Amino acid sequence: MSAYNTTGTKEKMAVALGAFLSSPPKNIPAGVIEAFGRTVKTEDGILPPRVFLEAVEQSAVAISISNTSAQILYVNQAFEKLTGYKPDEVVGENQSILSYKITPIEVYKELWKQLLEQKSWNGVLVNKRKDGERYLADLTVAPVLDDAGKTSYYLALHRDVTEVHELEQQVRNQKVLIESVVDAAPVVMVLLNNEGKVILDNHDYKKLMGEVHGVEPASVFLDSLSSVINFDKKISCDQRQDFHNQEVSFKNDKGLETRWFTCSGVWVNERKFTADEYFNNNEECCLLLVANDITQQKRQQNQIKTNALRALMAEQQLVHGMRETLSGAIYQLQAPLNMASAVVGMMDRRQGKNSDANPFQSALFDVIKSGQQVLESLQQSLPTEDQEAISPINMNEVIKDVIDLSVHCLLEKSVLVDWDPDAELPNINGGCYALRTLFKQLLDNAIDAIDEPGCTRREISIQTRSYANDVEIVIRDTGPGIAVNRRHSIFEPFFSDWKHIKGRPGMGLTIAMEIVQKHHGTINIDPHFQGGCSIQIRLPINSPQPLVKEDLL
Ligand code: FAD
Repeated sequence: MSAYNTTGTKEKMAVALGAFLSSPPKNIPAGVIEAFGRTVKTEDGILPPRVFLEAVEQSAVAISISNTSAQILYVNQAFEKLTGYKPDEVVGENQSILSYKITPIEVYKELWKQLLEQKSWNGVLVNKRKDGERYLADLTVAPVLDDAGKTSYYLALHRDVTEVHELEQQVRNQKVLIESVVDAAPVVMVLLNNEGKVILDNHDYKKLMGEVHGVEPASVFLDSLSSVINFDKKISCDQRQDFHNQEVSFKNDKGLETRWFTCSGVWVNERKFTADEYFNNNEECCLLLVANDITQQKRQQNQIKTNALRALMAEQQLVHGMRETLSGAIYQLQAPLNMASAVVGMMDRRQGKNSDANPFQSALFDVIKSGQQVLESLQQSLPTEDQEAISPINMNEVIKDVIDLSVHCLLEKSVLVDWDPDAELPNINGGCYALRTLFKQLLDNAIDAIDEPGCTRREISIQTRSYANDVEIVIRDTGPGIAVNRRHSIFEPFFSDWKHIKGRPGMGLTIAMEIVQKHHGTINIDPHFQGGCSIQIRLPINSPQPLVKEDLL
């Protein structure tokens, strides 16, 4: 409120003012009559002073007018109603009659400082009514200046704000209580309005925000949910569809660490409180998102899974190794036996059927016979491998498992892996173990290649991509590469050309080729790749004919 400058107009005012002032209403103090001896000029003319007096008198706001010593000159009806004092009980008293005497002195000092500078003051004072009951008065005091610009009166407007203050305090207390409960909860909690704006969040949410710099964690959760449960915020809000314990994951800001959460969402309604909604009952649909960090448990689970997988792979590799060794022995035994059989046959033909066999021939025959028995028992002792079920398989998961299995080895050998999976990779039908064996073999080969003499860069890149009919996996290493004239031999059984490793049976790529073929896929060495070896595998999304279990291994 600014100071009232009551510049009088002289002539036109005189008549109306004279009539009012000559017979003022009863009980109006002389000071007030004097104050109303001044009047206001509007664009249309002069308003009669009585209008002002009536307006003040009948105002719903308690009004008092005092002199510059705070001595009360006038109070209106609302003042009487609020304080319990009749005008004649307070006129002549200091405004301090209303003081409950607990308002700090600094407040009054500030009030008077403002008034002495001819500025209005607004604040809250603890007042008491006539009956002693205290109340909170929201008080506005403004100086009234005379023609010379000197303060002649103070005008005060009082409002009882006890109830409003109590309500405000209750709301504030409840807010503090809710915030402390929400903050203390050991979960990530956030309340989002219709537009996805955060209207309440807790300590754990803020902490998470610090970890995913520059991104609102709520939008990261909602994006993850849309891929997990096809979550559509608008549809879900319209139908008030809550969701519970959905597992979501995302990478932290450096893209290195995956965080896991179980996420629940509950729709809550909030009444709109803007001025334009005053006469409506419109509600806003807000989403309360609660997420529980399960990264630790998930890591433990993954560790257990990787260990179990490692044990299974080690056992199966042992079986493979035995099969490879025995197959090698059978293969190598077969050649001399075939040769010996051919010699016996030739001798038979030369001597005729009826002639007695010479001792060399019978010895050779015995050798062949016992050799065949050995072959038979070797074949019988070939360990059988479990046949696995055919199921829809995501190659990203298979490759991720294989990388996890090899992580110690990769770290030990300081090999950097660039893993670039296609986020939308479709499933293929296949045998999970067989495909894992395939990629373990290729990854082990890539690591071995990098260990070959003369390799300066130690990097492996693995990429998956999806095409119309198949998925492609490319594994590249920075090893010595494979010379053009050896590109066919490497898939042959018992071919091993490592310079730094000796005694390998050389069956790895043969098995890899077999697995790819049994999945109706292709495996190729990229002839154009420079600086190492690039192996490309393509596996059909829909196999031309369904694979049977026995086909796989
Ligand atoms: P006081 O001695 O009256 O005042 C305390 C301090 O205020 C003093 O130390 C001094 O610094 C300053 N002060 C007081 N009077 C003057 C003055 N005339 N000039 C300059 N400085 C001064 N108080 C309420 O408690 N409730 C009300 O509803 C209320 N309404 C008011 C309405 C108006 C229009 C005005 C002008 C004042 C009002 N006051 C009100 C303030 C009141 O006049 C007293 O200042 C206050 O109540 C403190 O009273 P006190 O006797 O404890 O101390």
